[in-house]
Amino acid sequence: SSIWTNVPQGPPDPILGISEAFKRDTNPRKVNLGVGAYRDDDGKPWILPSVKKAKEILINANLDHEYLPTEGLNTFRQAAALLAYGNCPEVAEGRIAALQALSGTGALRIGCAFISRFYPHNKIIYVPKPTWGNHKNIARDAGLEVREYSYYCPTKKGLDFERLLSEIDEAPRNSIILLHACAHNPTGQDPSHEQWAQIHEVITRKQHLAFFDTAYQGFASGSTDEDAYGLRYFVKEKSPVLLAQSFAKNFGLYGERIGLFTAVTDSSAETDRVVSQLKILGRAMYSNPPLYGARIVSTVLNTPELYRQWQQDLVTMSGRIKAMRSALVEKLKEKGSPHDWSHITNQIGMFAFTGLNAEQSQTLMTRNHVYLTLDGRISIAGLNTKNVEYVADAIETVTR
Ligand code: PLP
Repeated sequence: SSIWTNVPQGPPDPILGISEAFKRDTNPRKVNLGVGAYRDDDGKPWILPSVKKAKEILINANLDHEYLPTEGLNTFRQAAALLAYGNCPEVAEGRIAALQALSGTGALRIGCAFISRFYPHNKIIYVPKPTWGNHKNIARDAGLEVREYSYYCPTKKGLDFERLLSEIDEAPRNSIILLHACAHNPTGQDPSHEQWAQIHEVITRKQHLAFFDTAYQGFASGSTDEDAYGLRYFVKEKSPVLLAQSFAKNFGLYGERIGLFTAVTDSSAETDRVVSQLKILGRAMYSNPPLYGARIVSTVLNTPELYRQWQQDLVTMSGRIKAMRSALVEKLKEKGSPHDWSHITNQIGMFAFTGLNAEQSQTLMTRNHVYLTLDGRISIAGLNTKNVEYVADAIETVTR
C-alpha cells in the first residue's frame, strides 16, 4: 500500500466550491454571487484605469525581475502604511513595523505567526461570529486558540452590539480581538463611529490587543479615510494595534497577492527589532514577496495623478455596488415581496447578508442557477443591470 493510503479526502472550501459548481452549470441564465470579486456591469473582471496606467509606466521603465528583500518593496510599504494609518505621529516617527505579505491572507498569517512566537500572554484570538471563512483556519494553523464573540443578530438583521461588548469584556485579559476595519464580511454591518469608541473602551480596559483586518479600504464607502475610521481611532487613542492589509479588492489585484502586515510600536528601535523578526518568519515561509503587484500599488499611491484616478476608481466600484443594492431591493418590491429588505441597502461592502436560510440558498442554486454561500451571503458585485431582475425574481420566489 502507498504511504498516503490513510490520507482522507478533505472537504471542498465552502466558498471556492461554489465557483466550481457555477462553472459546471450549463444554464445560460446562471449568476455567480458566491465569490467576492468585483465585476463590471457586463459581469466581467475590471482592470482599474489607475492600475492600467501604472502598468504602462512600468512597461516603459523596462525594470528587471530581481528578488525583493524579505521585507518587501520599500516605496510600497511606506505608501501602504500611510494609506491605512493616515498622517499621524506613529507614521512620522517610524513606529510602524511593516512586512509586505501575500495579500490579506498572508498578512493575517504572518501576524498570527508573530503572535504565536512573541505575544507574551495567552495566545487566544477572538473572531466575530460570523466572520470571513478563512480567519479561523489561518489562526489555527498558526497555532492560536480561536474563540468567537457575538457580532450579528439575525432577527434584527444588524449588529448584536450589547452581546459583542459583553463578550469582549468577558474574554480573558490580554486576548487578541480580530476586528474587520470596514465592510464586515459576510454581514455588511459595520460599527458606527460611536460604537467604535465603545469597542475601543472595552478592549482598552481589558488590555486586549486589537488585530484589524482591512480588505476593503476605499472599496466600502468610496473614501479611504472613512473606511479607516476604526483603526485610526484606536491609534489616535494610543492603543496598540496589529493590521493586515489587502490590496486585492481596492486595486483589483486579486491574483497578484499584494498585502502588508504592520504592528504599531513604541519606538523606531522597537520597529527595527519587530521587522527583523517578521523577516525571519517570512524568509522561512516564502523567502520574499511578489514584486510586480507591489510596483503597481506603489506607482499608483506615489504618483499624484494616478492617486487621484484611483480615488475615482474606488467611487466607481463602490458606487456601482450601492446602486445594485438599491436596484435589488426595488425589484423585490416590484415583484410584490412582502418582506422588509432594507437591510440590503443598509449594509456596506462587497456582500449582502440576505437572511436566506440554507434551504432557500440551496434552492436558488439548484432551481434558479443563482449561486451563493449557504449562509445566505451574496456578492453584490455579481449583480448588474442585466441580471438583477432575474435574481430578484428568483429570491422573491424562494422566500414566498
Ligand atoms: N479578510 C477579509 C475579511 C476578506 O474578505 C478577504 C477576502 O475575501 C481577505 C481578508 C483576504 O483576501 P486576500 O488574501 O485575497 O487579500
